[in-house]
Amino acid sequence: MKTAILADLLDFTGDPGLDDLDSPAVRWRPDHWLLIGDDGCIAAVQPEAPGDAWHQIDHSGRLLLPGFIDTHVHCPQVDVIASWGTELLDWLNTYTFPAEARHADPAVARAAADLFADALLAHGSTTAVVFPTVHVASVDALFEAASARGMQVIAGKVLMDRHAPDNLRDDVAGAEADCRALIDRWHGRGRNLYAVTPRFAATSTPEQLAMAGRLLADHPGVYMQTHVAENRAEVAWIAELFPDARSYLDVYARHGLLNERAVLAHGIWLDDTDRALLHGTGAQIAFCPSSNLFLGSGLFGGQQAVAAGVHVSMASDVGGGTSLSMLRTLLDGYKVQAMAGNRLTAWALLHAATRGAAQALRLGDAVGTLEPGAMADMCLWDVAVGPVARRRDALARELHERLFAWVTLGDERNLAETWVGGVRRYQRPTSPSA
Ligand SMILES: [Zn+2]
Repeated sequence: MKTAILADLLDFTGDPGLDDLDSPAVRWRPDHWLLIGDDGCIAAVQPEAPGDAWHQIDHSGRLLLPGFIDTHVHCPQVDVIASWGTELLDWLNTYTFPAEARHADPAVARAAADLFADALLAHGSTTAVVFPTVHVASVDALFEAASARGMQVIAGKVLMDRHAPDNLRDDVAGAEADCRALIDRWHGRGRNLYAVTPRFAATSTPEQLAMAGRLLADHPGVYMQTHVAENRAEVAWIAELFPDARSYLDVYARHGLLNERAVLAHGIWLDDTDRALLHGTGAQIAFCPSSNLFLGSGLFGGQQAVAAGVHVSMASDVGGGTSLSMLRTLLDGYKVQAMAGNRLTAWALLHAATRGAAQALRLGDAVGTLEPGAMADMCLWDVAVGPVARRRDALARELHERLFAWVTLGDERNLAETWVGGVRRYQRPTSPSA
């Protein structure tokens, strides 16, 4: 039987800008029915109840939003989330590389991928751009876990042929063969999409970066993900390793890695020329505020990036980030921009984590929207959980005030249900306590 859900629907018909409280791009449809077709796509949205042919589910008073899109997160790093006391390069060596090495074991990789995919859904993210590890088994495990849940995941084997421990290093020829086989096996199969994934410029030789560029040239439609300009010591190291490059970002440009399907995490330490290059190529920055704060990496200049026409999406970057919750991530993003004197609206934040990210990933017809024809990937949220949030909600005078308080005070405990491709894949086990 086909399903219809009654709730308060919120999505965006365009870009609401950064600070416009009354943007016409905000589409608010309270007490509406969302109808899910047999194909798992949204069939219609309407104020009147559908007929008896539909299984009707009443979520009156709950928010229904498109599932969040987390554009940069590491599957194996759930094991090192909340690790104390280091910045990026120390953190990699002390915590992250030992954790990732365990994923050479396919059983470890499988268990981790299942836990990770379930955790994404339980935090309200239905699409993610993900780093597994250097091991082929970790890529297979991640795509298998996503497939079993019908999720849209973009991922690929991490490339690292230098400056990494022996048990995490590959080589150019072996990595190329692995990547070509993985692209054949996964890219475009179901909802899976492949991303060529050099970890960052320091851990790949110029020869490996050139190989990554060849893979992209040979496979139009394949994505690219990496890190750029996260930390000042890292930026200085890249300048030593690539003395001919104009900048860190230029290393990727020189190897043919920047295009409209490129996702670069962080991008804190960029200049105007870099931003123009991002704009010109269509590559996006995944803004990782929680991770940037936690590792002490720096404050991302979101306003300059947006002013330069760069696509900016939002990302948890777990395990540098401290929560898979996009609500927590959006709040950290708000705070970082507030430090620069900018006050982002809830609309700007929510758009960046839904329609904005979908468009930047060239998936705008499929995800991040409640438009008929899009996949029925969506979440049902309680606006207020607990006495403080309920008190605040009761006093809110208008919609933006309510939803800004939800973004600020909410987290995964506000999430009632997550649906992927028209199937309920997560349901909160018990009602949160009053
Ligand atoms: Zn990362």
